[in-house]
Amino acid sequence: MSQYSKILVAIDLTEEAPQVLKKAQMMREAHQAELVLVHVVEPVGYAYGGDIPMDLTELQDQLDKAAKAQLESYGKEYNVSKENQIATVGRPESEIHRLAEDMDIDLVIVGSHGRKGFQLLLGSTANGVLHGSVCDVLAVRIQ
Ligand code: AMP
Repeated sequence: MSQYSKILVAIDLTEEAPQVLKKAQMMREAHQAELVLVHVVEPVGYAYGGDIPMDLTELQDQLDKAAKAQLESYGKEYNVSKENQIATVGRPESEIHRLAEDMDIDLVIVGSHGRKGFQLLLGSTANGVLHGSVCDVLAVRIQ
């Protein structure tokens, strides 16, 4: 098996994130790889279809700040350098693809709920990341 040298782990900042991070840590140690953490903050406007007559900038800023704070805390816990703690805004799948290309990532790690039936039709972030990925993708089954 070839070695991975730069691993991107995508975390959603729910209580499930540590499961994905622990697997990423194991892969990092096994491959002596560099680890990059990413959380993608979805633009609040998306959730409301952009038709609320309100300035959502402050809310967006708060979400960005909360994401950065949580990333920093995981960064300390998992010994990830500051420049490898990335909070970005957009759609998770496309931002993860973009970063994987820009940062020369050779393995992306995401969580997967193993959805079945109707839920599967709705799609998942893991599926979106897998389709169109330029590198290997490891889907960690969330318990
Ligand atoms: P989901 O399909 O949305 O339940 O998410 C499954 C996995 O996709 C999570 O465990 C994360 O690895 C990744 N993911 C979901 N949302 C985000 C996000 N906003 N930023 C980074 N990764 C995410």
